[in-house]
Amino acid sequence: MRLVILGAPGAGKGTQAEKISKKFEIPHISTGDILRKEIKEGTESGLKAKEFVESGKLVPDELIVNIIEDFLKSGKAKDGFLMDGFPRNIAQAKIFSTMLDRINLSLDKVINIEVDDEEIIKRLGSRRICSDCRQISSCTDDKQDSICPKCGAELIKRKDDEEEVIRHRLQVYKKETSPLIEHYREKGILADIKGSGAANEVTERIFEKI
Ligand code: ADP
Ligand code: ZN
Repeated sequence: MRLVILGAPGAGKGTQAEKISKKFEIPHISTGDILRKEIKEGTESGLKAKEFVESGKLVPDELIVNIIEDFLKSGKAKDGFLMDGFPRNIAQAKIFSTMLDRINLSLDKVINIEVDDEEIIKRLGSRRICSDCRQISSCTDDKQDSICPKCGAELIKRKDDEEEVIRHRLQVYKKETSPLIEHYREKGILADIKGSGAANEVTERIFEKI
């Protein structure tokens, strides 16, 4: 199974992607997670990506395309994959399609998770991520010193989860990423999923469609 998951920041892509990748036993490739790891480790790509990621801008296509190319070359893609955060604009979608053609593969489905803006701003403002295991949780006050329920490490707020940056990321999503919805609908592989409600309800909706 070769899948892409689309949705605005905060639509719950990461959470759903984990469940899908478990069920179908396919690798979950989150370009955001990969970039954050590179930034934390101070690698060359990390240094290039840092400013873009922290201000909510898209990193240059070339950087992302190299990451995806490495993944496809590694052979880990042969039993399928779930792309989360890629492609992020039409140019990336076209390059991706060419890369897949070259190795005789194609996408099976593109899952589009829909959530309205207000809900997204509410969700992202309270989102916290574990500094160690990357587990995502929600925090109701503004304390930043809480503890990961899974591993006990410190929970942090992503720099790009400050309200200003969230609004910017939503604009970028609308302008750059949302055209992919029609792009993949025209190819006949889009599955629209209502993203409101409890996470496991959303998962059920997804499993019904793929
Ligand atoms: P979210 O979906 O919550 O915005 P992600 O973790 O997917 O978060 O991405 C975080 C940031 O990483 C983006 O705002 C962008 O700067 C960068 N990024 C991730 N994937 C891509 C991509 N395919 N192209 C360009 N930039 C990307
Ligand atoms: Zn943790």
